[in-house]
Amino acid sequence: MDSASAATLNGACAPKRANGAAESRAALLRGGGGFGIIYGAMDIVILLGAPGSGKGTVAGKLAADNANLSHVSSGDLLREAIAKGTAAGLEAKGYMEKGELVPDALIAAMIKDVVSATTGDKTMLLDGFPRNLAQAEILAQMGVSVRAAVLIDVPDDIILGRILGRRTCPNCKAGYHVTNLPPKVEGICDKCGTRLTIRKDDNPDTVQDRLAVYHRQTEPLIEYYGAKGILRKVDGNADIEVVAKAFMEQL
Ligand SMILES: [Zn+2]
Repeated sequence: MDSASAATLNGACAPKRANGAAESRAALLRGGGGFGIIYGAMDIVILLGAPGSGKGTVAGKLAADNANLSHVSSGDLLREAIAKGTAAGLEAKGYMEKGELVPDALIAAMIKDVVSATTGDKTMLLDGFPRNLAQAEILAQMGVSVRAAVLIDVPDDIILGRILGRRTCPNCKAGYHVTNLPPKVEGICDKCGTRLTIRKDDNPDTVQDRLAVYHRQTEPLIEYYGAKGILRKVDGNADIEVVAKAFMEQL
């Protein structure tokens, strides 16, 4: 046995290895959904929050600061699977090329693969899935352990202010905000002197539409996880350091 395997058996976090993934999958098959007995299993914390609530940023920071946390964004997962040309990625690409939505079950399968391929005791911060009740039911039936659903709570008017104030440098991609992170000279990139632009999607109509979709489709999950007794709430209207600390206290 190599030293990495020994470290894993001792409960330390080991880097992902192909044979570790195979062991976990075998354990998953043997376990038949009894997830608790799988060696090196991972449990899931679901991130809930409106677009612009900062949940992705918070999850990224938490994963960077804590070795036992990983951040998995369903959007990133999909893009990565397509780029790598995995079986699931090719299937997803087929739907997208036909202009169809990628089926919930396919995204769920990708998430299950990540869970079963991970060694060491890790908690996965799941961002972007589930997005609606149907997806939450699929996740519940996958046999993975959902420990908590944490809502990053931010009022709509604050979200509008955050998104509508965003400015981006089209040249070096640096990001700014008119009030929260202004450039030294108004409208000009500090780093390369290029005139800053507003992203096409950062307009009031688009943002209001996205918030409406969130309220209609995703917000019912607050009640859903509340009824299961695993909903936690964090005030997202604060500095990222404060939000991240409050989040950790809920885990
Ligand atoms: Zn620039």
